[in-house]
Amino acid sequence: MAQKRAVSVSELIPGIVEQIDAIKATYGSWEVHPSLHVDPDKVQSVFAELADRLDDNFPFFHPQYAGQMLKPPHPVAVAAYTATMMLNPNNHSIDGGKATTLMEREVLEQLVEMFGYNDEYLGHLTWSGTTANLEALWIGREIRPNKAIAHSKDSHYTHSRMGEVLGVPTISIPTDDRGRMDLDSLETVLKTGRIGTIVATLGTTGLGAVDPLADIIPLAKQYDARVHVDTAYGGFFALIPDQLDEDTARHYAAIPLSDSIVVDPHKHGLQPYGCGAVLFNDQSIIEYYKHDSPYTYFASSDRHFGEIQLECSRAGASAAALWATLKVFPLNRSGLGEVIAPGRRAAKLWHSLVSESEILQPYQVPELDIFAYLPRVHAMGELDRVSHAIFEMAADTDRPQQTHLATYVVTPQQLANRGIRLREDASSARIMRSVLMKPEHEPLVPEMHHHVQMWSARAIDRELGIESNV
Ligand SMILES: *Cc1c(COP(=O)(O)O)cnc(C)c1O
Repeated sequence: MAQKRAVSVSELIPGIVEQIDAIKATYGSWEVHPSLHVDPDKVQSVFAELADRLDDNFPFFHPQYAGQMLKPPHPVAVAAYTATMMLNPNNHSIDGGKATTLMEREVLEQLVEMFGYNDEYLGHLTWSGTTANLEALWIGREIRPNKAIAHSKDSHYTHSRMGEVLGVPTISIPTDDRGRMDLDSLETVLKTGRIGTIVATLGTTGLGAVDPLADIIPLAKQYDARVHVDTAYGGFFALIPDQLDEDTARHYAAIPLSDSIVVDPHKHGLQPYGCGAVLFNDQSIIEYYKHDSPYTYFASSDRHFGEIQLECSRAGASAAALWATLKVFPLNRSGLGEVIAPGRRAAKLWHSLVSESEILQPYQVPELDIFAYLPRVHAMGELDRVSHAIFEMAADTDRPQQTHLATYVVTPQQLANRGIRLREDASSARIMRSVLMKPEHEPLVPEMHHHVQMWSARAIDRELGIESNV
């Protein structure tokens, strides 16, 4: 085997496209219909405009983009997706996507093994975490009719929204001083007997907080509620328990005891958008999917994904891209784990640097790879203005020098819970937040920290007229 090295999309695409063309050629050639002909010059000019318009984006691909939960897929995934899309299989049915249905089964088995479910699982890829969660909540409603969904206050807004779609009431459970579901509040609500499904978020989208799943499971048993794990963002941290705090790792280790799981390979699994997944720990739920229609084409008696999913058409290319990616980055510590771990270390490192800073302070200790922090100021209004100024200053320079950060809105109470007391001249304020989801972030943290301190000093000076000594 050759040595590993970086590869680019433009290097990988021609070879695989040629192989797909060769497959097509085995069926004999045909004339493309004139209605599909194009003027190549016109296409070039459209593409030139496309590239020009796409230039109007934040540089998600660059390590100095340390803002929202955004990064491009791995070149292997892009090339595999593009090549498969040329055939455009539909994983709704085996007839629509034979090869990619088999690939999807293989990647699901790997996801199932990563989370510790057994062979008795049922699941599939989805277009998104939203549809995956909708499906899990829908099954929860069918199994526990006329009951409510409990989710943490910091859970993804999709849960309350999907509760509305499903006609299921949702109850928001307060979070503790680290953004995790508060167990006492959960039990108070469970005692009413109203809860059918508890959503435990393993890795909140805002702060990367991990709900105490290991302690939620026994409570759910006691009060006869289902447990759905929304680990859309955080799922792949299951590969690196050695990099997590002991208590965080304990909650990840409890995932096999849940009833369903959602994970988004399009977040931390190096995939293009259009790749979520839902897994159930029990095959008997298949009865809820029963449907019949004259135009479905289930020719074989093998199970088609269309028989066990809410969505109909779904890109076989997503399955192929994930399959190819997991061949080169297997779901283990030394495979994809090596891609996830640096971001986690980057968050820990930045937290330790900010903890010693005279101008910045951490909002809370990061549990995964999201780090939130704020300038040391005295009032909510100041905090909001200075945070926004830092955000703007960091990005307001020539492209190679730009740093892209993000902000996150907090209340005086949330700050006070974390020991940060500010004058309440506003009901909320922005603080700083960075998702350090690219492995290249780790070596960059000391420099980014240095620069953010500098911008913070300037922002405090500019916004508040206070000379800072940094
Ligand atoms: C991103 C996310 C979702 C929504 O998933 P999409 O893929 O964006 O539809 C749901 N829950 C959590 C925890 C997430 O991070």
